[in-house]
Amino acid sequence: MGAGPGAGDLLTLRALKLIEAASVVFFDALVGDEVLAMVPPGVAQVAVGKRSGRHSLDQPSITDLIVHAAKGGERVVRLKGGDPSIFGRSAEELAAIRAAGLTVGVCPGVTAASAAAAAAGVSLTLRSLARRLTLLTAHVADGAVAGHDWARLADADATLAIYMGKAAAEGVAAGLTGAGLPPGTPCLLVESASLEAERVWRCALSGLGAAAARAGEGPLIILIGRALACDRRRGPESPSGIAAPTWRD
Ligand code: SAH
Repeated sequence: MGAGPGAGDLLTLRALKLIEAASVVFFDALVGDEVLAMVPPGVAQVAVGKRSGRHSLDQPSITDLIVHAAKGGERVVRLKGGDPSIFGRSAEELAAIRAAGLTVGVCPGVTAASAAAAAAGVSLTLRSLARRLTLLTAHVADGAVAGHDWARLADADATLAIYMGKAAAEGVAAGLTGAGLPPGTPCLLVESASLEAERVWRCALSGLGAAAARAGEGPLIILIGRALACDRRRGPESPSGIAAPTWRD
């Protein structure tokens, strides 16, 4: 079930109803404290993700716990940050639950890209500037950003939303500019979207690595694309009008 990006009031009403009907809640590290505060007293809360330096359980152990609890008659809610179908590994858990002959439903949530766009006052798609939206994850393996076809991603008509991309930011920028995306392409970095600690930075693609290095420890999402140069606070501006990275908290 999707817990949204963190703010309690971005939990859906359906998710709240399900939480209130649960007997046990398994939750990931990115589930917001405000959301957990809505779990009624008496409902067991089990952390299964990395938090405060503690290590997460591996995926098969989490799945086993859920299946075991449900078979034991518990009403199980599995809370994941954002939307469970976006980089949430929900498919593995759903498959195991179904294989055990148990019934299960999915409740969507507000994904980080949507919360980040709202925080920055931008639109992820924009008529004539961003006709496609690509959600991707970028991690670093052996010092390089793994597994992306930069030529396909360097698409001036798309907005890219990069999850888990903080460490890979420099490599992403190099890959995209190497494949022809202009170094002046606007980028937004949003840390802890929807939470009190929320911060938004704006830079050009050429400055993405440096900007990501200045972010803090909260979850960070990176948005790249021409549509991001238009925001409600600053008013419309030329998509190429961002020359040098600027910084804002
Ligand atoms: N299922 C989640 C994504 C899980 S992957 C969703 O739909 O949002 C975890 C990554 O999501 C983080 O590394 C970060 O890139 C992004 N993320 C999650 N919550 C965020 C938040 N509140 N602010 C910014 N990025 C966030």
